[in-house]
Amino acid sequence: MGLMLACEVALHDVPVVVLERLPEIEWRPKAEGITGRAVDIMDRRGLMVGVAETPITPPTAEQRARIAAGERRPDSLHPKAFPGARHFASMFLLRPESPDLLVPQQLLEEDLARHAEELGVEVRRGHTVTGFTQDDDRVRLDVDGPDGPYRLEAEWLAGCDGGRSMVRKLSGIAFPGTDGITTGYRAFAEIDDPDFHLPGWFRKDRGLLVYEEGPPRFITLEFDGPPENRDAPITAEEFQESLRRLSGTKVTVTEVKKITRFTDNARQAETYRSGRVLLVGDAAHVHSHWSGPGLRLGLGDAVNVGWKLAAVARGWCGEDLLDTYTSERHPIGVQTLEIQRASIALMRPGPHVDALRRLLKELLLRDEANRQLTALVDDLHISYDMGDPSPAGPLVGRYSPDLRLRRSDGTVRVAELQRTGRALLLDLAADPGLRALAEPWSDRVDVITADCDDAPADALLIRPDGFVAWSTPADPASLTGALTRWFGPPAGTA
Ligand SMILES: Cc1cc2nc3c(=O)[nH]c(=O)nc-3n(C[C@H](O)[C@H](O)[C@H](O)COP(=O)(O)OP(=O)(O)OC[C@H]3O[C@@H](n4cnc5c(N)ncnc54)[C@H](O)[C@@H]3O)c2cc1C
Repeated sequence: MGLMLACEVALHDVPVVVLERLPEIEWRPKAEGITGRAVDIMDRRGLMVGVAETPITPPTAEQRARIAAGERRPDSLHPKAFPGARHFASMFLLRPESPDLLVPQQLLEEDLARHAEELGVEVRRGHTVTGFTQDDDRVRLDVDGPDGPYRLEAEWLAGCDGGRSMVRKLSGIAFPGTDGITTGYRAFAEIDDPDFHLPGWFRKDRGLLVYEEGPPRFITLEFDGPPENRDAPITAEEFQESLRRLSGTKVTVTEVKKITRFTDNARQAETYRSGRVLLVGDAAHVHSHWSGPGLRLGLGDAVNVGWKLAAVARGWCGEDLLDTYTSERHPIGVQTLEIQRASIALMRPGPHVDALRRLLKELLLRDEANRQLTALVDDLHISYDMGDPSPAGPLVGRYSPDLRLRRSDGTVRVAELQRTGRALLLDLAADPGLRALAEPWSDRVDVITADCDDAPADALLIRPDGFVAWSTPADPASLTGALTRWFGPPAGTA
């Protein structure tokens, strides 16, 4: 998330340095893709564009039936088999109209690194932050670099340093939550007997077993508590034991190519800001990674706080703007942790959970239930409480649709216009008064006059993170209040 946040800040010409302890991107199994709102975030910054614009083909009727049948079928129903399919607690859902981008996390990181370089972000690899102090004006970091230790001063520090965040610990922000109850492995490995088990996703007496062929990929999940020592090196033997316990076979692991061990502790920082220190991504929240919420949540954090941090650093806005980061994003984290705990509970082995799953699967055959859960899983439901919406319009706090806008120079999508990271005022009813009202903010807000067939309002003010800050039919005079609230006083009046 560090790279994403750095890009968000750099889009507004604010200098930023990324300190990363790893000398290069680490290729151990992590996220295998992003879905829903996370793909949209990428699209709105022009990231992973070639892949993201691959059209999503709705599943055929036969595929729909197979997805609906879920794990009752012995054949593999991995969601990747069908574009648009998702899983929740290894029960398959369908949301063909919501995009997915099935690429390893490392490719996203590579694309972000390229983007960061283009934006002039200084990325220092092999530099470990070992401590910091802060006062009212600055943060002072102790860094261990390839040429030895040094000090670095900055106005702000964003801890994007993962679930065991040193920044979070040193800032004294509490991290309450629940301990893990599972131990799992995700591995690319070779085994002596490729027929040891049917390929697919399977509920077992002790947990879950996933086996996919060529190249052989495994996920195991057992409900015997968290790993005894999460830092201990992972051995082929412990993974083999897990495979044997779940499959009931004597399979032998002959080679482990890549492997990760995981659990499901669910914790969230009490606040995402302490003075000049912010927390973003896993540093702010950890949870099980089933259904892949980690990157989506972290990317959502980064695009929420990036432009705010830049606005404060540029002197456009006061520091209180940064408090809306916690007030908007913390509740989303709470919801995600809830969903992830529910998902783990639904994967527990045993006849009681079997019964619960059967019941839930019946419900999920109903379109409405399926749509609601997939919207939750894909973060499509998110809206922010931006205070009383009545003066600023009914769409306030909601995510702006990716409207197709017709202008004299052609058609353009809102997502394409947002690639600059600037706010947009969409004038969809050719109201010259709006342009005049927004003119004093022209250094921060682009006014776009266009026609749109499915416009939800005559005019919308869209923040850089895609959320609506003002819309008609609110009184146009209230636009000035919204512009000031989110982007500061007009140029020259601060
Ligand atoms: C097995 C597995 C499968 C997963 N599957 C999915 C999935 O399918 N979908 C999904 O969305 N998510 C998944 N996740 C979760 C996802 O990988 C994380 O949510 C995501 O990596 C969080 O990004 P982050 O930048 O916040 O933290 P991290 O990726 O942990 O990055 C933190 C970075 O900070 C660096 N760092 C730490 N301390 C310091 C320091 N003191 N100084 C300098 N640098 C430091 C680290 O080297 C690291 O590069 C999975 C995770 C695992 C382990």
